[in-house]
Amino acid sequence: MACPPDEQRAKRDMVQGDGVSGRRGAAREIVVAGGGLPGLALALALRQALGEAVRVTVCDPAFARRDAPEGGSAPRDLRAYAVAAAARRMLERLGVWDAVRAGAQPITEMVITDSRLADPVRPTFLTFEGEVAEGEPFAHMVEGGGLLRALRDAADAAGVVLEASPVLAAVPETDAIVARLPDGRRIRADLVVAADGARSRLREAAGIGWVGWSYPQSGIVATVAHERDHEGRAIEHFLPSGPFAVLPLPPGGPLGHRSSIVWTERQSEVPALLGGGPDEALIEVERRFGLALGRLALESPLRAYPLSFGIARRFGARRLLLLGDAAHVIHPIAGQGLNLGLRSAAALAEALADTMRLGLDPGGPEALETYERSRRFDTLAMGAATDGLNRLFSTDALPVRLARDLGLGLVDRLPGLKRLFIREAAGLRGRQPRLMRGEAL
Ligand SMILES: Cc1cc2nc3c(=O)[nH]c(=O)nc-3n(C[C@H](O)[C@H](O)[C@H](O)COP(=O)(O)OP(=O)(O)OC[C@H]3O[C@@H](n4cnc5c(N)ncnc54)[C@H](O)[C@@H]3O)c2cc1C
Repeated sequence: MACPPDEQRAKRDMVQGDGVSGRRGAAREIVVAGGGLPGLALALALRQALGEAVRVTVCDPAFARRDAPEGGSAPRDLRAYAVAAAARRMLERLGVWDAVRAGAQPITEMVITDSRLADPVRPTFLTFEGEVAEGEPFAHMVEGGGLLRALRDAADAAGVVLEASPVLAAVPETDAIVARLPDGRRIRADLVVAADGARSRLREAAGIGWVGWSYPQSGIVATVAHERDHEGRAIEHFLPSGPFAVLPLPPGGPLGHRSSIVWTERQSEVPALLGGGPDEALIEVERRFGLALGRLALESPLRAYPLSFGIARRFGARRLLLLGDAAHVIHPIAGQGLNLGLRSAAALAEALADTMRLGLDPGGPEALETYERSRRFDTLAMGAATDGLNRLFSTDALPVRLARDLGLGLVDRLPGLKRLFIREAAGLRGRQPRLMRGEAL
């Protein structure tokens, strides 16, 4: 839970007479603007690695909403995430996996179909067995709210200061950067990490360019109850308007079993789909979900997110580094956006910890260069792959359909290639940051 302002100040133990806090003594001061999953993971990793040698404050106005009692008017994030094996290893290392393990559903198999909405059957083109090692699934489905709570509680326990407030501006000075809060307080820090989402105010204010585009699609998410067990199977139906993913959740709900759906739909169709009543919404979900898992019921309303692709031209400026969606946004077709953000958090924690251990300034050019070098290619490659997949599968043109179905069929017959894809989806290909190898920072 975010602690009250007085307690936070005591925890930071450094308020000075002029209302500017921070940077007393030898400890380094880092402000993270944005308490989403990547921002909190970075803050926790730094405190665990460096203890009192670094003071970390995470500012996010949403901490106030998340403290609201259940049933309050706070909008709930309905997203459930496919947490890849590499990200799970990092969460284990950070000591938060135990808090979400019971509610995490292993994905044991992936099934891919390619058809039109009106087709009476959806033939399976490709299946993947879901393990990267004996007993280790390539991904788990985890509900976003529970994971966020677990990370926030662990960060709080590790001495991270949680401020229920936005950062209005981050103003660099010669040897510091000052984070301005709406109540007039200013936190003087060595470094500000902007983890404030895709429309990052701090990125814009720092003049960091953004290359990207909006898709004419939205991602509709909801939790669906069903009668039959999904047996851990994740299904991706490629439909002409975009992929319709059925992702397994742990048992429960009114019909005994549950799945999360991520439904990519043409933006022009979304107002009508969301504007109808729950019965109409259920009919539309049933048309896409199919009846293989028996009777369906909607456990949550449908919620739509606009979809885009984008990458910052640089991952930092003077004493400011970008993290998570503030640095890169990708299409959710492969469920990799958060995994990419956590990988960046692991790489940034490593760059900052190494820099500070050498006695160097975390706001200096060394950390930025290491971070930029370790993340740019991986991020671009994942962005291009998800963009390409979306373009390839969100079309009904017959020659494209024939070619891609042939491709899917071929991959299905090549176990070596399938193993490669699964390792990629698990985040285990290429060089891993230490935390994702399950090692200490
Ligand atoms: C439909 C959909 C499905 C998805 N499914 C998956 C999936 O299965 N797996 C996966 O890996 N990824 C998935 N993603 C991607 C994932 O949701 C994002 O990559 C991830 O949420 C990014 O986290 P973030 O903290 O960077 O940004 P956000 O989640 O946008 O969080 C930003 C935070 O910053 C705060 N903030 C904003 N402005 C300020 C400010 N000025 N000062 C302080 N705080 C501020 C906000 O309150 C917010 O808490 C999906 C995305 C969509 C749209």
